[in-house]
Amino acid sequence: MQKIIELFNQLQPEKWSTHIDLTPLQRAKCFFLPDVDDLDIVNAAKNACPDYISYQENLATARVKFIKTINSVKYSKQFNSAACFYSSLFSGARQLQSSNDPDIIIRWPNIQFDGGTCCKICKRLSGKRFPKYSEYIKSFYPPWHFDCELYATDSDWRSSGQLKDMNMNQRFCNPFDLLIALGIDDGIKPAKQKAKKSYKPVVKKSVGCLWLIGLFGIFIVTIAAVKIYSSS
Ligand SMILES: [Zn+2]
Repeated sequence: MQKIIELFNQLQPEKWSTHIDLTPLQRAKCFFLPDVDDLDIVNAAKNACPDYISYQENLATARVKFIKTINSVKYSKQFNSAACFYSSLFSGARQLQSSNDPDIIIRWPNIQFDGGTCCKICKRLSGKRFPKYSEYIKSFYPPWHFDCELYATDSDWRSSGQLKDMNMNQRFCNPFDLLIALGIDDGIKPAKQKAKKSYKPVVKKSVGCLWLIGLFGIFIVTIAAVKIYSSS
């Protein structure tokens, strides 16, 4: 992944109330401060975050920056919520990219969800395992909402199977949406497929080269035969 700060800066500060009309993918292109529509305050929160989400300073230092800019402690709770969400969103995206390796996918084919006493859905998902890149993982890979307490780890235990009555579109946005929103392919599809695709043209090229070498060989042999025949 490119530098986290560069990618984070691409997010557009947005009024909280607009998120209702947006899809998870559209939300992943924006920076929201929960319950806040004042764009000056949203902007101040976003500007205080980069060093925290790129692990260069702690949450308290980032929060002090924000409080100094808006000259109020009124939105401290919302700031904590947003800073932690975007920090987890970017580290989740990085995690998806780093584990997107054919060998890792074969060795640990599933992802286990744990934690998650934050809401009914996370409670239901906690302790469950699903195949990598399945709909459950794409929908609920954490964090999938603000204040999400769920976390994900690779697992070689068998999948938990289907869960009944799960609405897959309940997420705010998650690391999969972020990678798509930022135009980063690596991490959203299994690496195995990519390896096959990039392998094919190499085979074609090498087969093509063999044909050329063969034709050139026949040409040389023909010339030599003609020369030997004409000199004798
Ligand atoms: Zn939850």
